[in-house]
Amino acid sequence: MQWKPIVRPVIYNGQIYSTRVTWTFGNHDGFFHSGIDISNLHKLCYSPTQIKIIEVRKINNGKNPGGVLGEDDKFLYEFLHVESQLCDGDKINGGDLIGTFTAGERGHAPHLHFGLYDKRLKKYIDPLPIIGRNCYGISEVSV
Ligand SMILES: [Zn+2]
Repeated sequence: MQWKPIVRPVIYNGQIYSTRVTWTFGNHDGFFHSGIDISNLHKLCYSPTQIKIIEVRKINNGKNPGGVLGEDDKFLYEFLHVESQLCDGDKINGGDLIGTFTAGERGHAPHLHFGLYDKRLKKYIDPLPIIGRNCYGISEVSV
């Protein structure tokens, strides 16, 4: 399957600015982080493939950071801390805009939490090896 970038490289004055994974998937001191956090100066995220939108969570006084859930045959896709104009039931293609990063909870800087739930395995999997680093403009990874 050909995946489209979920974030795009930032090019300013001829220089490419990095997109960073600020928090990786998996266990962090007993806390299970079910996806990857990505910061990107554009603060825009795009669909990696053709998906059907199944839930759009509206932002609610900072209590709900907002987000978009989508699915295809294999995966559930979670784009959290995102404000979106999409609606439940929308069908979108790879490369279509999902929305804009919002400020994360607890005053965190705006970032995308991207989660990938494998329907067959019935668990969250690390999206990074699947979406790939280089083609997504993700040039740095930190824990
Ligand atoms: Zn996260």
